[in-house]
Amino acid sequence: MSQKSHQDWQDLAETLPIPHYAFIDGQQANADSGATFTSINPATGKALADVASCDADDVNRAAAAARTAFGDRRWAGQPLAARKRIMQNIAEGLRKNAAELALLDSLDMGKRVVDAYELDVPFSASLFDFYGESLDKLNGEAVTMDDGVHATITKEPLGVVGAVVPWNYPVDMAAWKLAPAIAAGNSVVLKPAEHSPLSAIRLAEIFAEAGLPDGVVNVVPGFGETAGQAIGRHMDIDTLVFTGSTGVGKMFQRYAGESNMKQVWLECGGKSANLIFADVEDLQKAAESAAFDVFFNQGEVCSSHSRVLVQRDVHQEFVAHLRAIAERYQPGDPLDPASGMGAMVTAEHTDMVEGFISRARQEADVVAGGRRVTLGGSDCYLEPTVVDNVHPESELGQNEVFGPVLAVIPFDTEEEAIRMANSTQFGLAASLWTSNISRAHRVARQLVAGTVSINTTDAFGAQTPFGGFKSSGYGRDLSLHALDKYQGLKTTWLAYQ
Ligand code: NAP
Ligand code: MG
Repeated sequence: MSQKSHQDWQDLAETLPIPHYAFIDGQQANADSGATFTSINPATGKALADVASCDADDVNRAAAAARTAFGDRRWAGQPLAARKRIMQNIAEGLRKNAAELALLDSLDMGKRVVDAYELDVPFSASLFDFYGESLDKLNGEAVTMDDGVHATITKEPLGVVGAVVPWNYPVDMAAWKLAPAIAAGNSVVLKPAEHSPLSAIRLAEIFAEAGLPDGVVNVVPGFGETAGQAIGRHMDIDTLVFTGSTGVGKMFQRYAGESNMKQVWLECGGKSANLIFADVEDLQKAAESAAFDVFFNQGEVCSSHSRVLVQRDVHQEFVAHLRAIAERYQPGDPLDPASGMGAMVTAEHTDMVEGFISRARQEADVVAGGRRVTLGGSDCYLEPTVVDNVHPESELGQNEVFGPVLAVIPFDTEEEAIRMANSTQFGLAASLWTSNISRAHRVARQLVAGTVSINTTDAFGAQTPFGGFKSSGYGRDLSLHALDKYQGLKTTWLAYQ
């Protein structure tokens, strides 16, 4: 992968075509109403494009196209080898267009373009390979029965999937849903977040170029209250996969209950804990990992370990490391590979994160950062912030901030650390650092989280499931287990003489 300079990215941005249509039944489309909304680059405050603002009518069109594509088996009925080839073409298409996709995400929501280019897009591409490869390897069951009866259990696609995703990893969040959904043979109506619609539209074009039949993936940019709600309440969408906040996740449960009782699978928020025991082998390394985990992507990461619980014997030393390391994450132009962080997604979101910091000042110690920064005419930047001596029951100890703010909470005993780690409404992820193997197992077993990482922070990969317990949601993305959300079990009986 060639290294691109700040200038290279700026030059590319100058000539980048900005996609702004919906994509329905294999065609670019305007919203029926003609309405648009403006996509803004938070790094500059400047408008990027007026994007089709889809509402219930457009969702109806997209769902009808998806239903037709599913019903005539133009995708699920193709030979497995052909479907696998198209999945591989999609993966290749993402890789070929990696710079463009990365730039669209960076311009749209402020992340460092180099992260999108080197991490987000290659990971998304790998998922189309992973699920494409699974297509002809997952068998059903032939059941042991009495004579005269033959029974099989097969996994069937559900039909039309509604997918509603957030803005923090636009390409990835779309790919995490789309790759297993279409590998399983479904059709999809995808609504990207209003703050980051661009790359999803481009993805739909790449799918078409890769040979995916018309109507299998439809993209309806728009607002949550309009397009998102219309998907949630649609009578002809079979299952709904969502990533976003816990509050909106609950709305989808309601929409399903008030419409056709579609399945609802939720990946929601988190307040993940990172436990640093005094017997950690390398405190500096643990601090590096803790800082990376909360400052990467401006802290706009659902599984960010935004609470660090540190055993009191090493608390002061750990905080000293954190303060030094935080310096390296100073925000800058998202197109500059030297920037430590990019821009926050919007001014409103920056206000919200700033509010958390200013309220925390009343009762805890801001020991690094804490200020808003103006760069290039935009004030959507925040310093990497470390708040020490946070009370575990305080607002900053309990609530998701979704910004570059690390809450440090000292503890004395292992029991206390486990209790505090488990004492929020969330259960997405948890990490612990120790050189004592018994402690590692003992603590990992008691942490209530979908993923526990030992001597690393926030580990994830295509092969392992990702998702939460408690108000972090249910159902899993990634891994072969994700396919469970996109398939139903069918029992077939055959009586014979
Ligand atoms: P959000 O406000 O919940 O929005 C997520 C999606 O839901 C967006 O597409 C949004 O559309 C839509 N939406 C909003 N209100 C809606 C409504 N009334 N009806 C139907 N749809 C609606 O979340 P966000 O601010 O984009 O993202 C941040 C949240 O996502 C955080 O809580 C974070 O933890 C969570 N997240 C979780 C994971 C995970 O895997 N667990 C991963 C990433 C992020 P609009 O864009 O128009 O609002
Ligand atoms: Mg934007």
